[in-house]
Amino acid sequence: MNIPGIHHVTALAGDPQRNLDFYTGVLGLHLVKLTVNFDDPGTYHLYYADAAGTPGTILTFFPWPGAPKGRQGTGQTTSVAFRVPVDSMAYWAERLQAESMDGRIAFEDPDGLPLELVAGGEGEGTAISGFHGVTLSESGYESTAQLLTNTFGYRLVGREGNRFRYAAADGGAASHIDVLCQPDARSGAMGVGTVHHVAFRAETDDIQREWQAKLTRERHNVTPILDRQYFHSIYFREPGGVLFEIATDPPGFATDEKPDRLGTHLKLPPWLEKDRTEIERILPPLRLPR
Ligand code: ZN
Repeated sequence: MNIPGIHHVTALAGDPQRNLDFYTGVLGLHLVKLTVNFDDPGTYHLYYADAAGTPGTILTFFPWPGAPKGRQGTGQTTSVAFRVPVDSMAYWAERLQAESMDGRIAFEDPDGLPLELVAGGEGEGTAISGFHGVTLSESGYESTAQLLTNTFGYRLVGREGNRFRYAAADGGAASHIDVLCQPDARSGAMGVGTVHHVAFRAETDDIQREWQAKLTRERHNVTPILDRQYFHSIYFREPGGVLFEIATDPPGFATDEKPDRLGTHLKLPPWLEKDRTEIERILPPLRLPR
C-alpha cells in the first residue's frame, strides 16, 4: 500500500475576494466549490482546482479577513508548487513579474503564501495542470523521512544541500515532497499566508480505513474518519509537526452540483442548510468569476 500523491492543500487567507481574484484571475484555476468552513460556518471555504476538481489539483482556503498574519518556519508546509508546461515558463515569468531559474518560478500570493511553478510535461498552452508537490520545513528530517519512505512508500530522488527530495513510488502527478532540514530556523506560526495542512490521496474508503489502522499501529495519533462532504478525511501530525490528512478520492465535487456548474452557488452540507439565511447574511459578499 503506497500513497499515490497529494489530494489537496489547505491554507489560510485574508480577504476572500482578493484570494478569489488571484487564484482564478491571475493563476487561472477554477473555483470548483464555494462553501463554508464546517467548523466555523460564518466564514468561507474556497476550493480551487482544475475544471473537474481532480484530486492532485485542489488548493483550498479558509479566508479570515483581518486575522493575524502567520510566520513561515519549521513544522510547516512552506511552499506549494504547481506544474505548468515547459514552454509556458517565459509567459508565467512575465505574467508574475518573477524570475525563472532552473525550471522554477518562485512567487507569493497576495497574503504572502510562498508558491512555485515548476516546468513539467509537454501540455499545450499555459494552464496549470495541478500540483507538482510541496516543501516541508523541519528542524530535523529523519523521522519525517522515515514516515515518507517506510510508511508512505516515497523514495529519495535527490539531495541538494539541506533539501531532500522525495517522490511517490509510482511518480505520477502531485507526487513530490521536498523536506528542508533547518535545525537553526524559527518554528512557524499558523496564520494568514500559511499552509494549514496537506492532504494525501486514498483511492477508496477501504484504503483509507487501512491507512487509519496502519498509522495507528505505528503509534501516530490519528483522528476518526470525518465527513468533509466531498471526501472523507483522517488527520494526524507527522513527526516534524506538519498536519497531514488522508482524504478519499470519492465522492468528489459533483455530488451537490452538476459537473459543468461547479462553484457557481454557495453550497452547504445538509446539517447547515437550516441556517442558510443566517449564514448568507453573515458571509461577506463575493463577486464570482464569470
Ligand atoms: Zn483538508
